[in-house]
Amino acid sequence: MAETQLDDVRKVFTEDDGNEIVAVNDVSIDIEDGEFLVLVGPSGCGKSTTLRMIAGLESITDGEIRLDDRVINDLPAKERNIAMVFQSYALYPHMTVRENMAFGLEESTDLSDDEIATRVEETAKMMGIDPLLDRKPEELSGGQQQRVALGRAIVREPAVFLMDEPLSNLDAKLRAQMRTELQQLQEQLETTTVYVTHDQTEAMTMGDRIAILNDGELQQVGTPLECYHEPANAFVADFIGEPAMNFFDVTRRDADGDGAVLVGGNLEYAVSDDIATAIGDRSDLVLGVRPEDIDIQHSDGNPRRADGHTVPATVTVVEPTGDENIVYLDLGEDGSETAIVTIDGMSRIEAGDSVVAHIPEDAIHVFDGKTNEALH
Ligand code: ATP
Repeated sequence: MAETQLDDVRKVFTEDDGNEIVAVNDVSIDIEDGEFLVLVGPSGCGKSTTLRMIAGLESITDGEIRLDDRVINDLPAKERNIAMVFQSYALYPHMTVRENMAFGLEESTDLSDDEIATRVEETAKMMGIDPLLDRKPEELSGGQQQRVALGRAIVREPAVFLMDEPLSNLDAKLRAQMRTELQQLQEQLETTTVYVTHDQTEAMTMGDRIAILNDGELQQVGTPLECYHEPANAFVADFIGEPAMNFFDVTRRDADGDGAVLVGGNLEYAVSDDIATAIGDRSDLVLGVRPEDIDIQHSDGNPRRADGHTVPATVTVVEPTGDENIVYLDLGEDGSETAIVTIDGMSRIEAGDSVVAHIPEDAIHVFDGKTNEALH
């Protein structure tokens, strides 16, 4: 078990033509002892490079990585007591499962052959792979190979597990099953784990906390629910949640009474004093609302409410997913704004319907249109 700290960690790659790529830009994260931290972000955001620096597979351009307060920047990978699980599993093809699992222990510990054999057997039992111990990797399914790769990391009893998209080669069903298994295993072992994925669902469901990266920059570190409910900026708000948050470019107009009105296209949305104060005198704003927070009803008998939080809309497409429907709306009389709404799968809303969309004020997010920073 170990606390792992990244302090202003930076990685710059220099290409052959001298061009510099800042892959990781002054990232600081304190990963707590026993924590399951998920590093998530789009392709190329610097997740793998960060993980490889912790592993010792990539040098650090600037900053410090500490393991239990000890700076490990220059410590060779094999002396870090860290085990890495790769997307490709990286099993040795000519070795049996037993040999694959024993290999790391032979290399990195002084355990006797008997002790190693016992530990491999015990771990294999725990992982449910003991019947496979004498097979070669080519005789295993993808899911089994993945389990062996995990078993090989676990048998070493490292201070930290690093996992780079370990489930991405599995089919959807097996991936969901392995997610749960991995989480349970991590809870049982209480080993600090840093897990890389580009899949926000995986991040939300697996992480004690998630660290969201974009373009080498850390955007937010928090529990999945913090990042979902209180995104630090529009990037996080957009990245977390499926379907993604709706965004509307708006400007601020003073209201006749208290508060303000956010105006964009045909959208006129009244906000109370609290939000108006948070916005200050900024005029370039983005209004964000999650698809699940918009309520829609047929227009007949449901006139636009006077609270300034309803918008007339026309349904353009309804996509049933089973328990819910994803509804695409043209907002406003001339359809100049669009929005996505998720509603109960049993509701009778169809393409072509005229509806009123109600956006409750406690569900809205407001971002600075220039910096993307969350204001409310
Ligand atoms: P993916 O999800 O696609 O694996 P990632 O978030 O893991 O992406 P990295 O692999 O860490 O991203 O790459 C971050 C940036 O650094 C990218 O722009 C990538 O092209 C660049 N990069 C990574 N490795 C090297 C290298 N060895 N030489 C030059 N540039 C590199």
